[in-house]
Parts: sequence; C-alpha cells; structure tokens
Amino acid sequence: TDHKDELDYLITQSVRASKTVEREIQRLNRIENYRKEFIGDISHELKTPIFAIQGFIETLLNGAIEDEEVNRQFLKKAMRNVNRLTFLTKDLMEISKLETGELKSEIQDIYVGNLIKDVVESLQYKAQKENVEIELEDIGKNILVHADRNQIKQVLINLVENAIKYNRSGGTVTVGTKPFSKDKNRILVYIQDTGIGIDQQYIDRVTERFFRVDKSRSREKGGTGLGLAIVKHIMEAHGEKFFIESTPGVGSTFSFTLTKVQRSPVSDTID
Ligand code: ADP
Repeated sequence: TDHKDELDYLITQSVRASKTVEREIQRLNRIENYRKEFIGDISHELKTPIFAIQGFIETLLNGAIEDEEVNRQFLKKAMRNVNRLTFLTKDLMEISKLETGELKSEIQDIYVGNLIKDVVESLQYKAQKENVEIELEDIGKNILVHADRNQIKQVLINLVENAIKYNRSGGTVTVGTKPFSKDKNRILVYIQDTGIGIDQQYIDRVTERFFRVDKSRSREKGGTGLGLAIVKHIMEAHGEKFFIESTPGVGSTFSFTLTKVQRSPVSDTID
C-alpha cells in the first residue's frame, strides 16, 4: 500500500502540473491574440492618414503644384494628417506602456484643485475655438489626494478635451469635485458636458481602444480613439473608480474617484 500511496501522490502531482501548464498556455495564447489584434488595429489606424498624405503628394506631383492656392491647400491637408500620425504615435506609446505595466504610477500627495485649474487653463483656447464655455464648480482647492500627478493630468486633459470636442456650439463643460457617497475617504471629480451624449448601447464600449461612436466626427476633431482607453487604464492602475453617465442629445458626465490624504502636505503647495 506504500507504493499505492506514492503512486496516488505522483498522479495527483502530475495532474496538478499539467493543469498549471495548460493555464499558462492559455495565458500566453491570450497575450499572443491580444498582441495580434493590437498590431492589426494599429496598422488599420495608420493606413488612413498615410494614404491621405500619399494622395495629396501624388496630386501635387501630377501638376497641382503649379497652382499656388491648390498647392497651399494640399500641403495644409497633408500637414493635418502628419499631425494625426504624431498624436497617434504618442497615444500608442502611452497605451502600450500602460498595458504592459511598464509605466508605474508614481503616487504623490497632490492638490487636486491646482491640477484642475492648470488643465482647464491649458484647454481654454480649444474651448473658445469650439465656442464652448468651461465652468468650474468646487474644484477642491484644499484637498490633497494620493495620485500620480502626470497620469491624473492626462486623465483630466483627455476628459475635458472630449467634453469640448463632443459638445455643441454654445455649450458648456462643467468641472468640479464632490464627496464620494460610497466612501468618505474619497472624492469624486466630474466633467460634465452639454454635448451629443452617448447611446446606452455604446457606453461600455467607448473605453475600448480605437472604438468611436462616430468615426468621422472623431477624426475631424483630431481624435485617436485611444483617449478613454488611456483614462480607464490609469484609473485602474490607481485602484480608483471611473464612471460614465450619458443621455443622448443632452450630454454626458465622466467622473472618477481619488483618495484623500489625511496627513500634512509634503510635495505640493497651495497656489
Ligand atoms: P477619440 O479620440 O475618438 O475622442 P476617445 O477614446 O477619447 O477617442 O473616445 C472614444 C469615443 O467615445 C469617441 O470617439 C466618442 O464617440 C465617444 N465620446 C468620448 N467622450 C465623449 C463625450 N464627452 N460625449 C460624447 N461622446 C463621447
């Protein structure tokens, strides 16, 4: 019976080992599929601007270059597409670093009010261009939170930019903070717009990379389709929550939580 016990033990162990190997193979397959899909998506996204640039240059070389006005127009269009490639490359680098876990969040104590003010100021010119007004509510001037400054800044930029891009002329973007009802150690930062809104069926999909409700509107506004995917990753890396509420034709509210610091400040000052 000693032998039988030993045999049973060996069988159990080898079954266990084979299950581990199987799981590992599944994990690697998932990564491999993900990688293939990602490369497919990227190639597809790169094609549009590259073909456009090629088209403009070809037309110019075929004679359009002689007409000064046409020349200028086509070069401008080519330039816009070069800019799109630049944004796309920047966002791709960011998302790939976030997805591989290469980019670690550097958690500091930061004043959320300073961050909101900086971001809103830097986007004021875009809002004016689209005839959208940015209103600040309680921005949490004295509230210190645990967060990676650059990453939360990126989140705010992406959300406020979207709230401007998908708004209507004469519309408003409202940014503010309030207590988070489910956890008194956290606050909720919200970005509300009076824009086109998102149909219920798409709400869960807008954080997928390259998903857009309206491709041509996104492209026309210089979108890469990666903004919300980046936001979702950053909030997950922070262990914070991210919410989307929207009513088509009325507007959307994007919000996320941040955890308050209870002790005295070390790495930031109030303006
Ligand atoms: P994009 O570069 O296309 O803006 P995002 O990842 O930031 O990419 O957003 C994905 C899609 O979600 C957008 O193309 C748009 O359809 C939708 N979306 C994002 N923000 C808003 C908003 N504030 N209002 C309406 N739709 C939005």
